[in-house]
Amino acid sequence: KPKNRLNSQAYIDGILDGDRVILSRAITIIESNLESDKLLAKEIVQSILPKSGKSIRIGITGVPGVGKSTFIEVFGLHLIKQGHKVAILSIDPTSQRSKGSILGDKTRMEQLAVLQDAYIRPSASGDTLGGVSNKTGETMLLCEAAGYDVILIETVGVGQSETAVHGMTDFFLLLMLAGAGDELQGIKKGIMEMADMVVINKADGDNIKMSELARVQYQNALHIFPMSESGWSPVVTTASALKNIGISNVWDEILKFKTLVKDNGYFFKNRNHQQIKWMYNNINDELKQLFYGSKSIKSQLSILEKDIIASKISPVKAAQQILKTFKNSF
Ligand code: GDP
Repeated sequence: KPKNRLNSQAYIDGILDGDRVILSRAITIIESNLESDKLLAKEIVQSILPKSGKSIRIGITGVPGVGKSTFIEVFGLHLIKQGHKVAILSIDPTSQRSKGSILGDKTRMEQLAVLQDAYIRPSASGDTLGGVSNKTGETMLLCEAAGYDVILIETVGVGQSETAVHGMTDFFLLLMLAGAGDELQGIKKGIMEMADMVVINKADGDNIKMSELARVQYQNALHIFPMSESGWSPVVTTASALKNIGISNVWDEILKFKTLVKDNGYFFKNRNHQQIKWMYNNINDELKQLFYGSKSIKSQLSILEKDIIASKISPVKAAQQILKTFKNSF
């Protein structure tokens, strides 16, 4: 048993008290891959669950350099001025390789980082997006139980992490730049489609005119998408995180969204859907792991591959055969 570890009740009490040191230690338990920690983590999450959920969860994405850190800093400061407590988490399945060079940077959000009402936690590391999502998702629940009523979940904007963030938030914010093509910004159509709001950042100085142009273009582009189930029409605005322009407007839009979706029932409908999906994602991941992780399955698969190439067995029959072996192993 690792020394200095508290019992589960001490973690639970500390979190519910809003004790930041205990909160951080509990998150470390959640991020741990030790079997004993996993058990403890489950106990903690299970106990604080009834106290979680009372926040607005906002996903923020955009390519590196778009100004996410700068935006989150001024946005967070604005929220705290309004009396909110803000937790900033991130999903970055690549952080193990880059060792947090992007998100773990201590100089990020300097003003926010020193405030009691801000809690910043860099991304958990892990091999799979599913694993990292679990950790960030449970960290979010802990932060809510600790009294943070606005959760910002940021992604570095590569690969599938946007979908993961979208799957655990109420409102999805996409930061973009004027003048850079969609391809340049790595923005796939699917991501535009997920956005509840697009903010054209760096709308300052010589960039103002171009940003306004981009705003109109993106607003038109968004109209092509079918109306979201939420009943909300995505908004496009310009802002300057650096000059603190247009930041309060972003929050005002989020509040409008929140009122709409709480009134029409979508808010909880979506959250329920996300919870159920979270379970199925875990089942799917575990099943795959169980199947492909098995030594005997691995060796049988390599034989089947050869048989398929030699036309000894059809792909469908091969799949059925190996799944039958797998089922029989239970
Ligand atoms: P991130 O990689 O998305 O987190 O981007 P950063 O917040 O680190 O910003 C990247 C660079 O863009 C930094 O040099 C920022 O100072 C700059 N930047 C961020 N927001 C603005 C803005 O609104 N206007 C201008 N002109 N520069 C900005």
